[in-house]
Amino acid sequence: MEVNISRIKKDLDTINSFNMTPGKGITRLTFSSEYMQAYNYIIDELKKIGAEITICRAGCIRGRINGSDPTKPAIMSGSHIDTVLNGGPFDGQVGTVSALEVARVIVENKVCHTCPIDIVVFPEEEGARFRFGMAASSAWAGSMELDKLYKAQDNEGITYQEAMESAGIVVEDESPLVLGDVKAMLEIHIEQSVILDRQGLSIGVVESIAGAKWCDLVITGKADHAGGTPMAYRKDALQGAVRIIGALEDIAANDIGPHTVGTCGYIKVEPGVGNVIPGRVDMVFDLRDSDAANLEKLVNKLTKVAEEICRKRGLDLEISERFSIPPVEIPKYLADLLFRCAEQRGMRPLRMMSGALHDSCKLAPVTDIGMIFVPSKDGRSHCPEEWTELQDIKAGADVLLDAILKLAI
Ligand SMILES: [Zn+2]
Repeated sequence: MEVNISRIKKDLDTINSFNMTPGKGITRLTFSSEYMQAYNYIIDELKKIGAEITICRAGCIRGRINGSDPTKPAIMSGSHIDTVLNGGPFDGQVGTVSALEVARVIVENKVCHTCPIDIVVFPEEEGARFRFGMAASSAWAGSMELDKLYKAQDNEGITYQEAMESAGIVVEDESPLVLGDVKAMLEIHIEQSVILDRQGLSIGVVESIAGAKWCDLVITGKADHAGGTPMAYRKDALQGAVRIIGALEDIAANDIGPHTVGTCGYIKVEPGVGNVIPGRVDMVFDLRDSDAANLEKLVNKLTKVAEEICRKRGLDLEISERFSIPPVEIPKYLADLLFRCAEQRGMRPLRMMSGALHDSCKLAPVTDIGMIFVPSKDGRSHCPEEWTELQDIKAGADVLLDAILKLAI
């Protein structure tokens, strides 16, 4: 049994024909009319194979292929169909259409299975409209308060709930997912990095998903005249900041673990005038590791080094944590199952870590999750150049098919 590549291509082409920015990548903001055309296409395709459709909490689609035992927990698979602004044609779509195609193959072949198989679509994964990433999956799994999501506003002041209702979505089941509802959630996603592409591999089996901490750093020195203040008498906040940024790279690259990454992506200098010594610098550090202890180690070491740099320069330093997401460990039996399924198809799967978060991660507190990565050409994603070869998508979907059958039977 295998998936049908031409149907996957047709699904992708159809969904991506619903696009707010033709010629400038793919833009499909949650609950926009383009989004709803894609949303309704998925529902129609699921209905064609006899799936029972329920619109769940936060507007999630749940299309169920019943098994022989309705009391069993479901095997779930799916992803998202919303995109970033001017994004690519594969992020989210690959996981959605692969799950749909797997369901078609199971139904067509009249495969007997005991567990229900649920095909799901989670709105607002990217946070491009309402500014909460993985919004619906968080709300469905109960880690985000529904009220908070429903009141979240887009740039025009339209709330999530208003947008959902005016798009014609009627939620039929507001209850959150709880432990025992779902036996496993499997998601295919494009890798959004270079590892598989560089090694010429089709399949990555994710073993862990990096946790992240965002830290705000405020360095305060003294704004003085750039001409009149001798070098020895300065309290230049930016000079302290650049040394801390340098230390961030050194520590993340060399001192912690193989999967440690650290980024300073935001810096604001005050007063920000060419002839005034910077008196204050605000920075945000994004720190990630798949190992919770390493993430802690990174924060501690960086804090110590930053304090030392500021102490020597007579600068004040404040560090506060903006948010923290713990790493997710994929259960070994699921990673091993996906790995075996790929090997049995003659593929060379690669065990790997995910540096990015996906909807499945948000379901981890209520079910076991497994993730399959397929290559992104040159690692590009969230841009019009985002590309994944169809045969790689087929490889991923075949592995998903085998794994779902092993879990559902
Ligand atoms: Zn995605």
